[in-house]
Amino acid sequence: MDTVSASIITIGDELLIGQVIDTNSAWMAQELNKIGIPVHRRIAVGDNWDAIWNALNQESAVSNIILITGGLGPTSDDITKPLLCEYFGGKLVLHQPTLEHVTYLFEHVFKRGLPLAERNIKQAEVPDNCTILKNELGTAPGMLFEKNGCLFFSLPGVPHEMQGLMKQEVIPLLQKRFTTGCIEHRTLLTAGIGESMLADRLVDFEAALPKNISLAYLPNFGMVRLRLTMFGNHHDEVNLSINEQFAALKLLVKDVLITDKDETLEAIIGHLLTEQKKTIATAESCTGGYIAHLITSIAGSSAYYEGSVISYSYEVKEKVLQVKKEILEKYGAVSEQVVTEMVKNVLALMQTDYAIAVSGIMGPAGGTPDKPVGTVWMAVAGKERLITKKMHFRFNRQRNIQLTAANTLLLMRQLMVE
Ligand code: ATP
Ligand code: MG
Repeated sequence: MDTVSASIITIGDELLIGQVIDTNSAWMAQELNKIGIPVHRRIAVGDNWDAIWNALNQESAVSNIILITGGLGPTSDDITKPLLCEYFGGKLVLHQPTLEHVTYLFEHVFKRGLPLAERNIKQAEVPDNCTILKNELGTAPGMLFEKNGCLFFSLPGVPHEMQGLMKQEVIPLLQKRFTTGCIEHRTLLTAGIGESMLADRLVDFEAALPKNISLAYLPNFGMVRLRLTMFGNHHDEVNLSINEQFAALKLLVKDVLITDKDETLEAIIGHLLTEQKKTIATAESCTGGYIAHLITSIAGSSAYYEGSVISYSYEVKEKVLQVKKEILEKYGAVSEQVVTEMVKNVLALMQTDYAIAVSGIMGPAGGTPDKPVGTVWMAVAGKERLITKKMHFRFNRQRNIQLTAANTLLLMRQLMVE
């Protein structure tokens, strides 16, 4: 194995039954990517001795860096530590600095006011053949074992503890040990064209790509993200080459290009509002505040976001948003007329430059023959212009809500840039 590559093993029954989503390995893969270490494989195994043992054998045969998370806690289902001890032929010994750290955490941070339990003292026991990586944020230390040129890192399962250890210990150590290559990504977002049509358009481009550059299609919410990835040895060369290809790609999708950055729609709206020094408000029925949540998930949104009226009921649409009763009764809440009133009135109410309004039937119940589940009316408005759009989504409630939000933000962008 002359090239560097990593495998990630995440441990826990909860991952296999889908109770906890394995975000650890995704996060770790991203961090490894940033320092030019390709991830060969990510696998999840249960709290099971043989399964973990076999995974260690298998992964060390194909990768020289093995990152393991989970199973380090003080409870009986956590077996990673004794297993690693046996796997590498060591024995458990008390590690005084870890004991001091655990004692400190219990006395000064958790402040339980109780003497350390046997279980917690045990957390300071570590195999005598590993290097201890201090876990500033928790009780279970990280461990580094080395065997046949392969590095095995064992990290806690709790995401923020694992992340702390990765940043403080693992990444710096890997950078010191390996001369890694360079991985660069360039991402753009398109809308209004399907994945297959896009692929047809890019056949020649893809065929002419250098071998070390790959093109990935990432469709979501009816839009398609395109990502170019390049591996190479020299930073400058890689940047030059990938930038050249990315420029060519951008030209090919110019008419459907939304952004040439790896950013969300709410971030795009945020940038546009900041640039234009404009403000926005929302009036949400079927999304129940989800659009507001997306907009405010962007740091600095207080500069441009005024607020929302979650006008879920007829009464709130009528009393707070001043949608006329006759309009509501004549056309129904899910109609072009109602979202038009909603968007105009919230714009006036919040005194903003732009506003968004949505009303729809997210399901699973509530559909009618002429307005089936998934029917959504959206409206976006500025001071001079108003656009409405009807869409129909065919998924479950959660996804319909996400699709409504994404497509409304897309419509808002259209209003702002056209
Ligand atoms: P602790 O010392 O806190 O017991 P641990 O190393 O034993 O940590 P686990 O018991 O396996 O870790 O997991 C602790 C919690 O961390 C889990 O309940 C789960 O919520 C979360 N977690 C574990 N593994 C992952 C993972 N791969 N992705 C996301 N979250 C995870
Ligand atoms: Mg566990």
